[in-house]
Amino acid sequence: MSNKSDRRNFLKNTVKGTVALGIGMSSISSFAESCTSTQRVISPYKTGFEQQPLPYAFNALEDVIDATTMEIHYTKHAATYSKNLKEAVTAEKIDAKNSVEDVLANISKYSAKMRNNGGGHYNHEMFWQCMRPKQNENKSAGKLMNAIEKNFTSFTNFKTQLSDAGKNRFGSGWVWLYADKNKKLSIGSTPNQDNPLMDVSEIKGFPLLGLDVWEHAYYLKYQNKRADYIENWWNVINWNYVQQRFDNLAG
Ligand code: MN
Repeated sequence: MSNKSDRRNFLKNTVKGTVALGIGMSSISSFAESCTSTQRVISPYKTGFEQQPLPYAFNALEDVIDATTMEIHYTKHAATYSKNLKEAVTAEKIDAKNSVEDVLANISKYSAKMRNNGGGHYNHEMFWQCMRPKQNENKSAGKLMNAIEKNFTSFTNFKTQLSDAGKNRFGSGWVWLYADKNKKLSIGSTPNQDNPLMDVSEIKGFPLLGLDVWEHAYYLKYQNKRADYIENWWNVINWNYVQQRFDNLAG
């Protein structure tokens, strides 16, 4: 991480997540090894059921995402997913020490409420972290950039493919850069609040970067112009965070 505040936010959230689960920082590196082959969790990242603080002010991404959209998105849409997920967790007797990742890996065993809100909560917790204030020439770097170039020929091709996946998602959903156990990268899209961690998903793997293409994510500023929202979003991707998710993949 090159940026102190990024590192602070990353550590803050990592510590919160692990403390909430009752495990110490020292056990993170051994977590991956402890997973059995029947679990599809391939990263030590663990997400709790509580909504975490937004890592920046509502207006911090103003050029790309207006403050009103950010505030409604975080305090209404995303907060409701977390609230409804906790209701479902209680009703369906899931141990609160489980992570959202554990639940999503077995989501076919639970209700539609669990699926919609478990996915909604996870996706948004990740989405906020995947962004930061606008940067010029905003690109991946290092090992992740090498992997992107290996998998997609060039960063430009990667950007085009991911953007196209967003433009072509019919209705509401998400677009993902995700990885398999061998760190092979893929681009894909899921409907509604599904994601590649779910056992019911057509695309499966560990999400590194997610883009929300629901209309609630952009409609106030961009109206029907989803393509413009996607193009601008590239300027606020927090590549340090995406790189951390990639670095922490098991395997
Ligand atoms: Mn959303």
